[in-house]
Amino acid sequence: MNNIITFIYFIATISKVTGFDGIANLLPVETNNDTSIIEVAIEENKDYNESSDIVEEEPSVQEDIQIKEENILDDIDTNKPSRVIDPTKPMVALTYDDGPNATTTNKILDILEKNNAVATFFELGNLVERYPDVVKREEAIGCEVGNHSYAHKNLNTLSKAQIQADMQKSENAFLNAIGHKTKLFRPPYGNANATVRATIEYPLINWNIDTLDWKSRNADKVIAHIRSFQSLDGRIILMHSIYNSTVKATEIIVPELISKGYQLVTISELAYYRGFETLSNGVIYREFNP
Ligand SMILES: [Zn+2]
Repeated sequence: MNNIITFIYFIATISKVTGFDGIANLLPVETNNDTSIIEVAIEENKDYNESSDIVEEEPSVQEDIQIKEENILDDIDTNKPSRVIDPTKPMVALTYDDGPNATTTNKILDILEKNNAVATFFELGNLVERYPDVVKREEAIGCEVGNHSYAHKNLNTLSKAQIQADMQKSENAFLNAIGHKTKLFRPPYGNANATVRATIEYPLINWNIDTLDWKSRNADKVIAHIRSFQSLDGRIILMHSIYNSTVKATEIIVPELISKGYQLVTISELAYYRGFETLSNGVIYREFNP
């Protein structure tokens, strides 16, 4: 019943904002995964609905209307990929750390967008402050944004209070840029000792394929490493969004993986469709195998 009321308010709000009664028919619902539009269409797809932020956050009707009023005109013009996932088919999660970078991260987003694909970006709070628009764009095209600390310190060397202070700064950066905290955290260098695990109130996402892109700075080596695995199903691949060589590798690897039948998914999608409907804080995850 609440959904019907929300829907009625939604239509009423569109009419109020646009002054056009028939606009609901023109919305690109099938191809748009932005929360403010998909909410109407998503009711039909229970599985996807359960895994999405939309339901978990459950804004009140009043808040909901305000969000729509702010975004509705932009949304009409954006053409975003639909997120239809077949849980029976192979899936792999590309992850990019250490951004956002105004040049290279945006180039990676261009490639993902062109291929109707998504990835997860573990971003640094201090750079999120500098380039909030890149992080907004990541979310806008269906990618997932994760927290990678504020300043990329080795958290194993910090006290509990120092870790908390770093996290506070980083969370504020994400709050200011995208309006919410991230669901996931990746510790710098993958380092998370007992103190870190007890302090960070997020699921910790590491990887089980390390392309060493930061070391080689060589697209061919990154591509060759990813190709060397017989199956990538359920795997989490580590790259960094701040190198031109990684942009080049992404340009080759994204369409290639898709042509091999892999679905490129976010970490939360991969976890959800592999049976992890909720992830536990302080636990390190490296893969979500079938
Ligand atoms: Zn890093």
